[in-house]
Amino acid sequence: MGNYSRTNSDQHGLGGPVTITSPYFQQRDIWLRAGEELSFPNLDPNGPQEIGFSPNENFISFGRRVNAYLAYVKPVEESYEEKLHVRRYSVVSKVLFEKHVARGVLYHRHGIPRVAMATKEIILSTGAFITPILLIKSGIGSKQELEDAKVKPVVVLPQVGNNLQDRLSVSLSPFTVTDLSATWNMDRNLSFNDIDQLLYEGKGRAIFTGTAGYAYILSDRAKKENQNWPDLQIGFAFQMRNANALRCNVGLGRPYSRGNLRFNTSATSLLDNNLPIIEPRYFTHPDDIGRVLEGIEFCLKVMEGTHAFKSIGTKYAGEPIAECRDTIFRSRNYWACYIEHRASSMSFLTSTCAMGRLHDRDGSVVDSKLRVHGVKRLRIIDASIMPSITNANTASPVIVIAEKTAASIIDEHKYPDNSPIRKP
Ligand SMILES: Cc1cc2nc3c(=O)[nH]c(=O)nc-3n(C[C@H](O)[C@H](O)[C@H](O)COP(=O)(O)OP(=O)(O)OC[C@H]3O[C@@H](n4cnc5c(N)ncnc54)[C@H](O)[C@@H]3O)c2cc1C
Repeated sequence: MGNYSRTNSDQHGLGGPVTITSPYFQQRDIWLRAGEELSFPNLDPNGPQEIGFSPNENFISFGRRVNAYLAYVKPVEESYEEKLHVRRYSVVSKVLFEKHVARGVLYHRHGIPRVAMATKEIILSTGAFITPILLIKSGIGSKQELEDAKVKPVVVLPQVGNNLQDRLSVSLSPFTVTDLSATWNMDRNLSFNDIDQLLYEGKGRAIFTGTAGYAYILSDRAKKENQNWPDLQIGFAFQMRNANALRCNVGLGRPYSRGNLRFNTSATSLLDNNLPIIEPRYFTHPDDIGRVLEGIEFCLKVMEGTHAFKSIGTKYAGEPIAECRDTIFRSRNYWACYIEHRASSMSFLTSTCAMGRLHDRDGSVVDSKLRVHGVKRLRIIDASIMPSITNANTASPVIVIAEKTAASIIDEHKYPDNSPIRKP
C-alpha cells in the first residue's frame, strides 16, 4: 500500500497509492535523544512490534493529507468510468436477502428509496458502528436483538455488535520550557514563507500535524503476563496555538475492556443508521486504568527526568483538576482520578463483527475471508472485523485488510473452486 518518502527502510513499499511522510521538526530530536538516554532504540514505527522511540509519520503527499478515497477510489473512478459507479449521497439501510443469499441493498438517495442488486456479492464497509447495525436491520444478529428490533431472522449470530474495542488517550499538558526555541507555535512561528513552501514545494513546517514523535513501550502489568510487545503508545506533541508549551499523550495500545453496540428500538426509521446504543464500557477491566497510569509516569520521567528535556527547562505546569481535589496532586491516586476524568476516545473503533472460525459462530461474525457466517454473497471489509484492536493507529491496518481481501476476492472469481458462494 505504501509509498515511502524516506528511502532507507526495508519496512516500506515504494510506489503504492498511500504516500507516507514524516514531517521533520528539529524539536523531535529532543524526544529521540531522551529515548536514547533511557536506553530505548530509535525505531521505524512501521517495523516489527518493538519497544522504542520513533518519529511521527503521516499519510501525506505533497503536503496534503491522503485518504482512502484519494488513494484508491478516485484514480479508478477516473480511469474506468464505465465500470465503476460511485453513488454519492447514498445511505444504505438494509441488505436484501432471498432466503440466505444476499441479493441487493436498499438505500436512500436524497430521501428517495432505491434498490441496488448485486450479480456477484455485496461488501459492507460502513465501519465498526454502522456495519453491525445494518446486519441487525437485515436479520443478522443475536436472537434477542432481532426480537427487540422486530426483524425476521435470516441467521442468528450472537456476536454481532459485541466485542467493541476502542483506544483511549490521556493528555498531560502543559509542559512549559525555558528555551522557547524548543516549542513551535502557529501564531508565533508560522510565516508566509512556510505557506509558500507548502503550496509550491509540498513541504515545510506548515504540514505539521501536531505530534512530533512516539514511544512504544511495554507496561509492567503486561510484562507480568509475559507479553513482550508494546501496549502503550506515548505521543510527544506541541501545544500549537496560543501557548509555548509541550504535551505528552498516553494512548492505551491494547485495551482489555470490551463494549458493545445495541440496536436502538426507538429508532423507528430505516434511515436511523446513526442511532445505535453505544456502550463503550471503558476502564471496566481493572488493568486498563493502571496501565495508563504507568504511561503517565513514563511521560513525567521522559519530560522532567531526562537531560534532553532538562536542558530546555521542561516542567509540568498543569494545575490540579477540580474533580480530583480530594487527592494529593501528582500522587498515584491523583493520576488515577485524572485519567477517569480526562481520558478520551482516540476514535479507533473496531471489532464489532469479529473474524473467527466458521464453526465458532457464537464467537465471531465473519470467516477468514471476511464472508458473513451462515449466509451467501455477503462480506464485510472494515475495522469491525478485527478480532482485537491493533496497538497503534487503525487507518493503515484497515487499508491492509482491504487490500488483502480485494486480492483474495479477485482470486476467488478467477478460480471459482474457491468461490465465496457456499452453503450456510
Ligand atoms: C476524528 C478521527 C480521527 C482519526 N485519526 C486517525 C489517525 O490520525 N490515524 C489513524 O490511523 N486512524 C485515525 N482514525 C481512525 C480511522 O479513521 C478508522 O480506523 C478507519 O477510517 C476505519 O475505517 P472503516 O473502513 O472501518 O470505517 P470508516 O472509515 O468510518 O468508513 C465507513 C464509511 O461508510 C460510510 N457509511 C456509514 N454508514 C453508511 C450507510 N448506511 N450507507 C452508506 N455509507 C455509509 C461512511 O460515510 C464512511 O465513509 C481517526 C478516526 C476519527 C473518527
